[in-house]
Amino acid sequence: MNNKYKILIVEDEVNISRFLTALLEANGYSVINANTAEKGHLMFTSHHPDLIVLDLGLPDKDGMCLLDEIRETSATPIIVLSARSDESDKVSALDKGANDYVTKPFGSQEFAARVRSILRSNRHSADEGKLPGGKFTSGDITIDYDARKFFVADNEIKLTQTEFNIMALLSEHFGKVLTYSFIAKEIWGYFDTGSIKKLQVNMANIRRKLSLEPGSGRYISNELGVGYRMHSD
Ligand code: CA
Repeated sequence: MNNKYKILIVEDEVNISRFLTALLEANGYSVINANTAEKGHLMFTSHHPDLIVLDLGLPDKDGMCLLDEIRETSATPIIVLSARSDESDKVSALDKGANDYVTKPFGSQEFAARVRSILRSNRHSADEGKLPGGKFTSGDITIDYDARKFFVADNEIKLTQTEFNIMALLSEHFGKVLTYSFIAKEIWGYFDTGSIKKLQVNMANIRRKLSLEPGSGRYISNELGVGYRMHSD
């Protein structure tokens, strides 16, 4: 029986497609390929992959369209791949529901680590992250959603309402980068020029309360210019 994770690569550049296929197969995944958005959609519906690697520049249509189509029916993790280094593409792909974003050229180690991390956090959120009784746990963090309490290694950390809401939101989307605008809209109901600053101030306070050095990526990483992600320790 084949119980390997199945990964669909939607990429029209033969060299990159071959490179990724070899890399992922060497890491123990089973790989299927499509070189257009249309074929990608067909293979997605017929093969039910565990993860999709999606190039944005496809010959028949923009990969963003395929991202939209997949997200209408499915939460399958998607890593967007693009030659564009524009931040706005990164943000809009994440806002459309991509789980992560890799800009070409990228290193094989980095890419394999992203894939592992997404598959792990996806399994984590399904099996471990949210416990019955409205609790979340990852490493030494525990969040009691009903009592609105936050613990690190059984010690309660006193967070303000806003700080708690931010941490609860990140934990509900464990492993995924949430963009500044997504977080601001969820927390304050709107996104404006002051929101990012307000969010940064709250994050700095949370880090201080968790005794994290400024710039430390423990528990939460700051994806510069994009957003924040909660991840395993
Ligand atoms: Ca391409």
